[in-house]
Amino acid sequence: MVAMPGSQTSLREANQRRVIEAVRESGAPTQADIARSTGLSRATVSNIVRELTAGGLLVVTPTSAGGRRARAVSLAPGAGLAVGVDFGHSHLRVAIGNLAREVIAERVMPLDVGASAADGLSAAERLMDGLLASAGATREDVVGIGLGVPGPVDAVTGTIGSSTILPGWAGIHAADEAARRLGRPVHVDNDANLGALGEMTWGAAHGHADAAYIKISSGVGAGIVIGGRLYHGPGGTAGELGHLTLDERGPMCRCGNRGCLETYAGGRYLAELLRHAHGDGLTTARIVELALAGDAPCRRAVGDAGRYVGAGVASLCNLLNPTRVVVGGDLGRAGALLLDPMAEAVRRSAIASAASLVSIVPGVLGDRAEVLGALALVLQVAFNS
Ligand SMILES: [Zn+2]
Repeated sequence: MVAMPGSQTSLREANQRRVIEAVRESGAPTQADIARSTGLSRATVSNIVRELTAGGLLVVTPTSAGGRRARAVSLAPGAGLAVGVDFGHSHLRVAIGNLAREVIAERVMPLDVGASAADGLSAAERLMDGLLASAGATREDVVGIGLGVPGPVDAVTGTIGSSTILPGWAGIHAADEAARRLGRPVHVDNDANLGALGEMTWGAAHGHADAAYIKISSGVGAGIVIGGRLYHGPGGTAGELGHLTLDERGPMCRCGNRGCLETYAGGRYLAELLRHAHGDGLTTARIVELALAGDAPCRRAVGDAGRYVGAGVASLCNLLNPTRVVVGGDLGRAGALLLDPMAEAVRRSAIASAASLVSIVPGVLGDRAEVLGALALVLQVAFNS
């Protein structure tokens, strides 16, 4: 049925969405809490809760509020499932969550994602079906799939925008291709944006309407939240912090420019810098491990990376005035070795009022931030559209 604008039906649907959103936001509110947070009358809330409970989307359980008996409303666990798929540079992670925002199954496997989109999507399909089976569910139960890729997604065409960053996916319309293979609606975003969404929904950026998530792994990217929403920009390339120019004559970047921030802080460039000390094949995770164990060249490289990212974050603070910057990715695991020089650089370079307002903290979701963000993306679309 198509709801006419302004009709009773569309009003009721809008009110239903407000109630569901209120339940989703606070977990298990009472009907009085819902009336307060939505501004709807208690009678309207009561009617909507009754309808949605009958429809299997909400469940009501007895509780007490202020010593009086009350009814707590929550999302029904079996009301539908969301799937999150995160393609990292060397791994694939899939998680299944319910509409109450609980993760019920999750698995990760090594994968060279850049090699081939077809192979990557086939692996995601197998992993998803296996997890659904283990949860006693089928694809029919899935309301949507969130898909994270480690490269820019063109907001206009929906294709993966760069052939140098993710060669096996260049020109592929990831959402359409994945939806065809997986048989459910698919929503695609890049990994840093989904990390931001994950930390905003469940982690260190929760409660901050203006925040940034900085992902430092083999490359450097950022997800930017303005006024409580992810900011993509009209072309989908907002947040490419790693390609801020720090030095016109600096090292050649994979994007084709020189002296980008990423060439001073991305793991692939740090590995090159540390080749004389540690030989070939140094991963970002290994650099962090060595730095934490006291290895002098690695400590220096991580500390310098923090200073350079801090210079970029200082510009970000001057431009957008966020209250929280969350640092994630493999290099983010270095903790204070990375974050202290970063905070110092922000204090030195940002306008004092911007620097004093922002707190720079490590992510709390670790390498699950992106896949949880992919789940959050599905829930956002399911409840807000
Ligand atoms: Zn660059």
